[in-house]
Amino acid sequence: MERILTTDYVFHRDFTKEYPIISYGKGIYLYDKNGKSYIDACSGAVAANLGHGIEEIAQAIADQAKKAAFVHTMRFETDILHLLSEKIGKLAPEGLNRVYFTTGGSEANESAIKLARQYHKDSGKEGKHVVIGRWQSYHGNTFGSLSAGGDIKRRQPYTPNLLPFQHIYSPNCRHCPYNREKGDCEQHRDWSCVQDFERLILQIGPENISAFIAEPITGSQLGAVAPPQDYFKEIREICDRYDILLILDEVMTGFGRTGKHFALEHFGITPDIITFGKGVSAGYAPLAGMIASDKIIDSLIQHSQGKFIHGYTYSGHPVSVAAGLSALRIYERENIVENAKVMGSYLLHKLLELKEKYPFIADVRGEGLLIGIELLKSIQPSAAFPVNYKISERLNELAMELGAVIYPGSGSIDGVAGDHFIISPPLNISKDEIDELIIILDHSLKLLI
Ligand code: PLP
Repeated sequence: MERILTTDYVFHRDFTKEYPIISYGKGIYLYDKNGKSYIDACSGAVAANLGHGIEEIAQAIADQAKKAAFVHTMRFETDILHLLSEKIGKLAPEGLNRVYFTTGGSEANESAIKLARQYHKDSGKEGKHVVIGRWQSYHGNTFGSLSAGGDIKRRQPYTPNLLPFQHIYSPNCRHCPYNREKGDCEQHRDWSCVQDFERLILQIGPENISAFIAEPITGSQLGAVAPPQDYFKEIREICDRYDILLILDEVMTGFGRTGKHFALEHFGITPDIITFGKGVSAGYAPLAGMIASDKIIDSLIQHSQGKFIHGYTYSGHPVSVAAGLSALRIYERENIVENAKVMGSYLLHKLLELKEKYPFIADVRGEGLLIGIELLKSIQPSAAFPVNYKISERLNELAMELGAVIYPGSGSIDGVAGDHFIISPPLNISKDEIDELIIILDHSLKLLI
């Protein structure tokens, strides 16, 4: 342990580290109190999707705070709650219309898990309580969302007391957990990871299973890994066969991050519940939520007197909702989703050039502006640093010294793949700004080994 900070009152996320103090941000840049700038190449936690310092959003927040900062959704609603819900409902696939707000993605997934349970109970299927999630998937930190996810490091301190949810492997064709060759499953239309899903359902008994939850493109745990094209169609079919609700976690991928409004559009499927967060307010205020299918809402109305037995003090918080509405207006007006697609291809191309230059880069992949860079497992860093210290963390340290912040991989290195990091800048980034970022990344990579 290098240092322990004992001199202030903050409950630090990591008491061994000291972070720069940020004074303000503008566009893709953050500035610390010494005036040093950092390109926010990961939009914070893939959240600050419009960059920093947007007056229009700040004004919308201030205006709403002055009008009515808090309105309890058990007693009142606001116009902006209706306006934002309508905007989000219209972006979702047909049949998913009703929007429920929370403050964070963990709460959104928690809410989805509970809604699925209530739906089945209402339908007289009392036994359906198990959620199936995937290893190498992240759905949040609360007990339910943590139990559904497969982040080993975050789960480990709480086992064995997590909820008894089950997991299958996420598809990861470069390092197939079933040792299949890339493309083999698609060619023969026989999918080991899908078969495993059905096998697990039959083993536990479909009468016990409530929902399957997955990220459409696996973010932090695998580093922007998309499944084979038809994977989710197969999963959808199995869910339908056994009356299991499909929850797609778009907390990281939603609102344009992958060059589509929702990443599910890449795969042509419709889930029963979509959860979202981060990008919805572009990080200007805590806001997240879920969009539920008409089938679920109809059941709630028919069987539960229209009541979802769940709720938070800050559900639909007007100030957060104002931030979301303002952000979504900007997304629309400034064609942000299209920019993410176009700039995403440019960034991918520039990163592939770096891959040519640095043979220790094993893979560059992604959709839109969610790009993962995988490093070779055998890589030897230049600086001596503690065992188990992740090389992507070291790269981030170097990049920060040079003026950019990246998103080090948070998945456990599983013995096959190397470490990875994510590049996910604000969706309104320009070509020149990407060039500037690439120069910093190039220097950082040069210093890495
Ligand atoms: N789901 C996914 C896919 C995420 O990436 C995250 C956060 O990184 C979450 C859920 C949890 O969201 P939050 O940190 O807002 O609770």
